[in-house]
Amino acid sequence: MTDERPSGSPADGALVLLSGGQDSTVALAWALSRHGRVETIGFDYGQRHGVELACRARILERLSQTFPQWAARLGPDHVLPLPTLGAISETALTRETAIAAGASGLPNTFVPGRNLLFFTYAAALGYRRGLLHLVGGMCETDFSGYPDCRNDTLQTLARAIRLAMAADFVIETPLMWKSKAETWAMTDALGGKALVDLVVEETHTCYEGSREARHDWGYGCGTCPACRLRARGWQEWAEQWRNGTTTRDRGRTHD
Ligand SMILES: [Zn+2]
Repeated sequence: MTDERPSGSPADGALVLLSGGQDSTVALAWALSRHGRVETIGFDYGQRHGVELACRARILERLSQTFPQWAARLGPDHVLPLPTLGAISETALTRETAIAAGASGLPNTFVPGRNLLFFTYAAALGYRRGLLHLVGGMCETDFSGYPDCRNDTLQTLARAIRLAMAADFVIETPLMWKSKAETWAMTDALGGKALVDLVVEETHTCYEGSREARHDWGYGCGTCPACRLRARGWQEWAEQWRNGTTTRDRGRTHD
């Protein structure tokens, strides 16, 4: 994780899916530590809370201010409107589909196929801009078990994209096999306290869209599943620090 691979070759360009959440922000820092040219993409599909999208600009601004070596590599940010995805998500809240969704065991925050659409749009943009490394913060160890976050799903999609566009696209997911505690450790390994502070202060996780209460681990209601997951990861990481058993970053990457 700590290997710096400064390279300005065109094949080294990366496009990072930045939502404004913790994981995509850490994935962006990871991409900036190893790719010579990095751009970001976000999607506006009428998210229940515009909070995450509002966080994106602050994250990019503060990353550039705090890490000049990364600022030199960071290119334009692209926000694509995807109102169709929002429309589908809304109509899915009818009685029949709500019951079907419940039976599948997935939380009702699941937007079917979202990451397939995101990466396909990212590839279409990346093709035009010569950015063949598509980077996302998806994580299979996440509690929610979203099937479009799985490694199999995303690597199969990468193959379809390579075939469909006849270009050497790679999907990179540096957090795929990390626990939430390991993600905090990775954050520290990539950018030290300055990056940990940035993630705490500027990224958004809470399902309820709350940024009123400030906890050690950041802002949120503190009780929704997303807040509890983030808080538990932070506490585990802090515990490891106290016990001297932390490994900073275990480097357990599979990409
Ligand atoms: Zn919350």
